[in-house]
Amino acid sequence: MFGFGKNKTGGSPPPAPIETAPAPAATEPAVTPAPRGPTPDEALQQLRDGNAAFLRGENNLGHVKANDLDDLQGGQNPIATIVGCADSRTPPTILFNQGFGRLFSIRVAGNTVDRRGLSSIVYAVKHLKCPLVVVMGHTGCGAVAAAESIVDGAALDPSLEEMIVPIIPPVLAARAGNGSPVEENARWVARKLATADASLADAVEAGTLKIVAAVKQMHSGEVKFLDA
Ligand SMILES: [Zn+2]
Repeated sequence: MFGFGKNKTGGSPPPAPIETAPAPAATEPAVTPAPRGPTPDEALQQLRDGNAAFLRGENNLGHVKANDLDDLQGGQNPIATIVGCADSRTPPTILFNQGFGRLFSIRVAGNTVDRRGLSSIVYAVKHLKCPLVVVMGHTGCGAVAAAESIVDGAALDPSLEEMIVPIIPPVLAARAGNGSPVEENARWVARKLATADASLADAVEAGTLKIVAAVKQMHSGEVKFLDA
């Protein structure tokens, strides 16, 4: 298929290939080394700054249009992985004023993490070199309220079991300590993540990763970072 053998005349060896026209310009974008990403603390500050800008009514998301994706064809280097609630009022991109390529998001009602979620987080940390994981709950979370109602004796809807059951231990812990179930749930998931996979534990130990808990205030949109 490459023309081998077509030049065999009289048993002489095929002529050496002749350089003709220069090769057409590559259509694939050049792959350039990824710039150094932010440290965990720098990434956290960028999220704080982005949320502060959101609260001031500024929209500086950056990359938000289809054309902007051209700049991101070489890969992604998200500054943070957000483990958030599926609640339609808690989109990390908007709350943190970050456009395409900035946030790697895993969103499940109640911001818990199952095995698939954990693999996604490990992928972001290990392969995308993401320096920060934020477990972000929110006030007025229906999933946490559902877990509280089970603790209070309501019947468990089997269809919602996978969503609710993981939230029951932090609800019990919050009640034992008179804490906020939403805050305790976010802290609980963050603590679990820190030891859920060796690669995450190693990155935390090495200082290349921080895992923090946060709560988005439903009414104001402020994201309050807990213990960070
Ligand atoms: Zn929620």
